[in-house]
Amino acid sequence: APGRHADLLADLNPAQREAVTHAGAPLLVVAGAGSGKTRVLTRRIAYLLAERGVHPGEIMAITFTNKAAAEMRERVSDLVGRRANAMWVSTFHSMCVRLLRREAKTLDMSSNFSIYDADDTRRLVTLVARDLDVDPKRYPARALAVHISNHKNELTDPEDAAAKASNDLERRVAEVYAEYQRRLRLANAFDFDDLIMRTVELFQAFPDVAEHYRRRFRHVLVDEYQDTNHAQYTLVRELVGTSTSESGVEPAELCVVGDADQSIYAFRGATIRNIEEFERDFPDARTILLEQNYRSTQTILSAANAVIARNPNRRDKRLWTDSGDGEKIGVYVADNEHDEAAFVAGEIDALVDQGQAKYSDVAVFYRTNNQSRVFEEIFIRLGLPYRVVGGVRFYERREVRDALAYLRVLANPEDTVSLRRILNVPKRGIGDRAEACVATHAERERISFAAALRDAAAGRVALLNPRSAKAIAGFVELLDGLIELVDSGAEVADVLEAVLERTGYRAELEESDDPQDASRVDNLTELVTVAREFTEQAAEMAPLAEDDDGVPEPGSLAAFLERVSLVADADSVPTPDEDGEEEDSGVVTLMTVHTAKGLEYPIVFCTGWEDGVFPHLRALGEPAELAEERRLAYVAITRARQRLYLSRAITRSAWGQPMTNPASRFFDEVPSELLDWRREEPSSAAESSFGSPRAATTWGRRSRFGEDSAQAGIAARGMRSTPFKGWQNTVALKLEVGDRVNHDKYGLGTVVEASGEGPRATATIDFGSAGKVKLMLIGSVPMVKL
Ligand code: ATP
Ligand code: MG
Repeated sequence: APGRHADLLADLNPAQREAVTHAGAPLLVVAGAGSGKTRVLTRRIAYLLAERGVHPGEIMAITFTNKAAAEMRERVSDLVGRRANAMWVSTFHSMCVRLLRREAKTLDMSSNFSIYDADDTRRLVTLVARDLDVDPKRYPARALAVHISNHKNELTDPEDAAAKASNDLERRVAEVYAEYQRRLRLANAFDFDDLIMRTVELFQAFPDVAEHYRRRFRHVLVDEYQDTNHAQYTLVRELVGTSTSESGVEPAELCVVGDADQSIYAFRGATIRNIEEFERDFPDARTILLEQNYRSTQTILSAANAVIARNPNRRDKRLWTDSGDGEKIGVYVADNEHDEAAFVAGEIDALVDQGQAKYSDVAVFYRTNNQSRVFEEIFIRLGLPYRVVGGVRFYERREVRDALAYLRVLANPEDTVSLRRILNVPKRGIGDRAEACVATHAERERISFAAALRDAAAGRVALLNPRSAKAIAGFVELLDGLIELVDSGAEVADVLEAVLERTGYRAELEESDDPQDASRVDNLTELVTVAREFTEQAAEMAPLAEDDDGVPEPGSLAAFLERVSLVADADSVPTPDEDGEEEDSGVVTLMTVHTAKGLEYPIVFCTGWEDGVFPHLRALGEPAELAEERRLAYVAITRARQRLYLSRAITRSAWGQPMTNPASRFFDEVPSELLDWRREEPSSAAESSFGSPRAATTWGRRSRFGEDSAQAGIAARGMRSTPFKGWQNTVALKLEVGDRVNHDKYGLGTVVEASGEGPRATATIDFGSAGKVKLMLIGSVPMVKL
């Protein structure tokens, strides 16, 4: 109806409208941050459905993160209601998982395959490299894994890699790569890069499969196109098809949007070539530019434009806004990272208190994940509600990975990496030697590790002592019992409980004296909660549509594992208090800049603006990497709608030692008239000890504590200052020989020597396998006395 038509186009500018209504030839929308690219994409989908009679099942929309996919799905269902469900809106990875589950048989895999993440990949590469006698000192597994990943992003298969290899490293990589692929197949697993590469292979090797999907998906839309790598680009081409294809299926309509200045995934093989040569790749393509920014104030936009303008070899864009100058950018120079976090927390508290913002309006960005901790600690101490986006960290914890490995083995018994991970966890008398016997048997018989284990249980493995064989038989029996439970239709959370119970995993942690084990129990409890919530959500989900094969049954173990595996950087782990009392004003969001891409917040704190932090240390002498860091800064700045804060710390602890960092060079690139210096100098006490920055910078903090407006404001309103496990940064830790401590980096240790007082207090601590370390006891010591 014309009425709806008008609605869909009413709040768009002419260029946006053109992009939404364009039909036929491939379309590229290039434009700077906040110019409505994502809005165009979303609106275009709505327009296709409402005005062009397109069926939702004909639409494939690809976003960069799961969070963005969820947002887009939501925006589209707001516009068109439940019909949105039949669309495929997902990340490249999720889309490929879905395709591969449907078509696994074609590739000679089974559809209950596991998905290996970076850590699993590294483990498998380590095993392979060891078996191939690759010298781990010369070629560490981590490096080999990077090379293999690069090959996959370029769609280079092991044979091509071997043919192209021109030096020892490349030959070794090719060798490891080939064997690694063979083992993945045996384990019925795909790694992350495989998901893309093997889907391309599926399409290229099986034209009828490709044709099936080309007939189905008549509209392909891609957000953040600047961050596609070669494999993803090829996948898009395969999906869209060409007019010369034999089957006579017309190519699908393609619409991609992006901004070369926001390309921040070069380290994963992303290349802006895909945007820059779009017109060459798709000869009759149309390009539309958007120039009005609707997100930010002129001040924020000017800062962003000034920074990105320093990058060489870019196309200049004219981005303008009519939303006025707004507030200046608040800048704060902190003594150290704790002071910086205190400033951020205090400022947020003041803004909320004055009614200028809700917690949910605020985002705090940092360059690398490990920077979140200091913020979390002060937020907890001051009682500010927050959430850390970036679920990876939770799912990277050892106990969580162990528990998930059990679940993965139950879902895919061939999963070698998971199987070997849990073989002797908790300890059940299956030692390294026994494991090696089984592995050798598997190699010799060319069977999977799982099959070899069964042979071992039946006493058919040579050189395996009877005790080990018995232990293995017990293990196999344990797994069979658990698999039975899964097959009986038990809920994921109950299966997980059974795993923790029957294996004795939880009991072992509960009985341990190690205080870290207590928090491990908490994390496992949290995982059970995640599983329960998952089941509840699944119960509310619509039943599967007919053509939904490839999607695991909602609520099933497979669905749960898939969700967890695909937790990309941008997925959030529910924190216990997320849906607590503070619901009305929401929570502050903490995340890395990479994760923030595509998002927007009224108030943004961009922290750690130090050379060596942001830009990252690695980029300092490298022009190409520095350009990428600058794009990252551009992304960070342009997330802010109304207010932006930039901060840096003069000293920041790295590996347990305070380091002095110079101001980020990006500061100088922002025109000074845009800045409002909240504090330009370090506090006087910090300055007096500045000559020896390794000495307790926070000694000064203590004398200043009462005057610090942010801190004082909070204290005066009587906010709770609950003690928590963590930093003791204003008073020196008092340690004596024999005391036990827990250090964040080094773990548990025993004090073997202590000397000095106050700011000069030091201790030498024996951290066992991590060695003996001498530490200052004041300032940024991430350590508690037990
Ligand atoms: P990024 O490059 O950061 O991904 P983007 O180009 O995708 O940004 P959007 O997120 O689509 O930009 O839009 C930025 C903001 O501007 C959003 O809040 C969006 O709703 C708003 N917006 C976009 N176009 C218009 C318009 N024509 N009128 C009013 N608001 C608009
Ligand atoms: Mg966008």
